[in-house]
Amino acid sequence: MSFLFIQKTQQTSRTLSTLSFLSNPFPLPPPSVFQQPQLSYHLFPTQQTPRHEVDPFPASTPSSPNYASLLQSCVAAKALRPGKQIHAQLCHLGIAQNENLATKLVHVYSVCNSLRDAHHLFDKISKRNLFLWNVLIRGYAWNGPHEAAISLYHQMFDYGLKPDNFTLPFVLKACSALSAIGEGRGIHEYVRRSGWESDVFVGAALVDMYAKCGCVVDARHVFNKIAERDAVLWNSMLAAYAQNGHPDEALSLGREMAATGVRPTEATLVTVVSSSADIACLPHGKEIHGVGWRHGFESNDKVRTALLDMYAKCGHVRVARILFERLREKRVVSWNAIITGYAMHGLAAEALDLFEKMRKEAQPDHVTFVGVLAACSRGRLLEEGRAFYNMMVRDYCINPTAQHYTCMVDLLGHCCQLDEAYDLIRNMGVKPDSGVWGALLNSCKTHGNLELAELALEKLSELEPDNSGNYVILANMYAQSGKWEGVARLRQLMNDKGIKKNIACSWIEVKNKVHAFLTGDVSHPNSNSIYAELKRLEGLMHEAGYTPDTGSVFHDVEEDEKTDMVCSHSERLAIAYGLINTLPGTQLLITKNLRICEDCHVAIKFISKITEREITVRDVNRYHHFKHGTCSCGDCW
Ligand code: ZN
Ligand code: ZN
Repeated sequence: MSFLFIQKTQQTSRTLSTLSFLSNPFPLPPPSVFQQPQLSYHLFPTQQTPRHEVDPFPASTPSSPNYASLLQSCVAAKALRPGKQIHAQLCHLGIAQNENLATKLVHVYSVCNSLRDAHHLFDKISKRNLFLWNVLIRGYAWNGPHEAAISLYHQMFDYGLKPDNFTLPFVLKACSALSAIGEGRGIHEYVRRSGWESDVFVGAALVDMYAKCGCVVDARHVFNKIAERDAVLWNSMLAAYAQNGHPDEALSLGREMAATGVRPTEATLVTVVSSSADIACLPHGKEIHGVGWRHGFESNDKVRTALLDMYAKCGHVRVARILFERLREKRVVSWNAIITGYAMHGLAAEALDLFEKMRKEAQPDHVTFVGVLAACSRGRLLEEGRAFYNMMVRDYCINPTAQHYTCMVDLLGHCCQLDEAYDLIRNMGVKPDSGVWGALLNSCKTHGNLELAELALEKLSELEPDNSGNYVILANMYAQSGKWEGVARLRQLMNDKGIKKNIACSWIEVKNKVHAFLTGDVSHPNSNSIYAELKRLEGLMHEAGYTPDTGSVFHDVEEDEKTDMVCSHSERLAIAYGLINTLPGTQLLITKNLRICEDCHVAIKFISKITEREITVRDVNRYHHFKHGTCSCGDCW
């Protein structure tokens, strides 16, 4: 082991936490906090804000210089065996009780996740300083059991010590891992009283703790109180929004961050790009693509993977493929992103072709198979789907999750194998979730199987009682088979349970601006020309053979027994706006928060033919690519 690394300085780096942020969003003091900076810099050359933690026992004390140095290098290299050997020698020499050496031994055991040994030795040390407590608390915070970190935190007070800005992030990390919001709030209270609230490290840990416990508002409150924000703190807040289903807020915070001039990190870009992908917001995604390029992340594989996922979700699979091909190292997540991208758009052949290539280069995981099975389902490839499902279980030893079952039920349902689909659900190894029952309900709708649909709705009303879409599907099925008493019963049930139909909203991006429309919306400044365009199209559609389908009692959300209303469904307004504000031939991408209704599906097919446009509608279930009068979903969704 080289002694070159063992020169003691008191500076430590926070860089590791930034880099490990992707896999572990907890942003705070990393193992490097107590490590030799030379080693850290060697591994991670871009140093950020230095932290100062004084090791009260510098490595070179006159009494035992060699052992202290050796132990310090064991810490840096996380070398357990040499550490144990030194421990044995120290016992033999009778100097293992030396406070300096014992502290370093605890440190070695702690970083090597040998926490029983660390704690045992810790208990034997009579004079324990703050550094020693922090070492052990950090060990538990990173490796668990997390309860032990919290318990030590409380014991510290009894011992007469006050937690500092190293202790606090560790113990907050333990609270995050346990989602222990009560304990976390207690620690926040101490932070407030002890004046650490404006500390950027403690603040980022608090933000992370609140985010993991789902308290985004509290997280933002802490964030707002910290005046000097570094990239790690910004990233914590961005992740708080992204992980709790607030992609819009994540995007707007990302813009705020850019305005402050704080340099984005890989984690910043990945979070913000993924948020754009979540809401299929191409202009933001493109903007961030540009930001990444300016900051030198153009060739960063993680950022590229996030970008390719974003382009795929925004309907640009070709761009996604180009980015994929440019990756220097194709990791499993990258393969998964592109395979899932193709599957989402119903391009089964491309997805399966890539899967075959992937098998030669990487080990598929459970996410890969979700993509593969989804591709089979979209492509109605029944035999292939069954074969891949068996391959997953047999060759890759992957236990099917609810997502895999959802894909299989969807596939069997599409291929008229409803009984087999139901059998599969009954024999599932995991509890069927709303995705599985939803897939069955959708299949029942396609094949008009009322009996199974009723059963699926019964399960769904327990699993997602507020989702009005499920009731609407069954109500429409009753209506189509003339069972009006069923329709009335469901309406009554929805009333009794206070279930409100969701408000339909569609949005379209034109010239880097997002325009949102509700059903029958007249609030847009271009409203007159939008309705004029719809009127014009309707005339042409009638000539081409279109008749509005008002047979359904209610479409997904939209109150619309009248033709007028069907014709002003939100996605049609968005399409009309896109048609009059883009050049002929431009592809349109519309996103809708609910399922597209049957009538709009027919109408958009006509519109794509009449206007010679490619129109992509991403509804709550899938992508519909309308081109030359047909849809990629094959009218089954
Ligand atoms: Zn509609
Ligand atoms: Zn379709």
